[in-house]
Amino acid sequence: MTSPMPAVFFGHGSPMNTLERNRYTDAWREIGATLPRPRAILAVSAHWYVRGTAVTAMPKPRTIHDFGGFPRELFEVQYPAAGDPALAEQVRALLAPLDTQLDQAWGLDHGTWSVLAHVFPGADVPVVQLSIDATRPPHWHYELAQKLAPLRAEEILIIGSGNVVHNLGVMQWSEGAPPYDWAVRFNHDVRAALTAGDHDTLIDYAALGEPARLSVPTPEHYLPLLYILAQQRAGEALSIPVDGIEYGSVGMLTFAVGLTAR
Ligand code: ZN
Repeated sequence: MTSPMPAVFFGHGSPMNTLERNRYTDAWREIGATLPRPRAILAVSAHWYVRGTAVTAMPKPRTIHDFGGFPRELFEVQYPAAGDPALAEQVRALLAPLDTQLDQAWGLDHGTWSVLAHVFPGADVPVVQLSIDATRPPHWHYELAQKLAPLRAEEILIIGSGNVVHNLGVMQWSEGAPPYDWAVRFNHDVRAALTAGDHDTLIDYAALGEPARLSVPTPEHYLPLLYILAQQRAGEALSIPVDGIEYGSVGMLTFAVGLTAR
């Protein structure tokens, strides 16, 4: 029996990572080189945080430049991966009786393409995005994500894209800004729970107190982590290829479930 496709959470950070080469993007490229080649990708991005659950079902998703204040070069980036309407239908079936909408309007947002531009620079693997329902609590997302697990046996790569620590209100827009103490603390606690396979702590992250409240002022960048955590089978390996906190309050931890080194 072949082992199931790994699943990966990417700490995406600044959209400028699309155009840069740094230790994070190098780690993303190494993951792309290490993964078995997927048939398609199902991406859960912090930047599609809406009321309800939807899955992109168009054959040619557009590249969405969902940010402001960045150089023109970034707005010119295209990530022309195909969609996969059949996979969208399959996701809808797996999540039933939830009424997942087959979406024709969204596309690929920068949470997805800023990372995939490094993992699969050829944009030659079809990509489908799944929205995050903003009205639901963390345990609901974890349980929903468990229903996606059969896709791993069908060569589908499930990725989450967000940030463990994400507080833009207090970020320091400079290279080498020292991380806030609460950011270090929360990132440490999350890392320890990931390493220990302690899913309950990660689902109930708010119980980690003030560091959690400051690191996750809104849940959209944290929740994609739960979609990947939910893929971890009992005893399955979890690795953390890269970690760090940029701009004082943006956590760049990336982790993979079921990924074995080349
Ligand atoms: Zn983001």
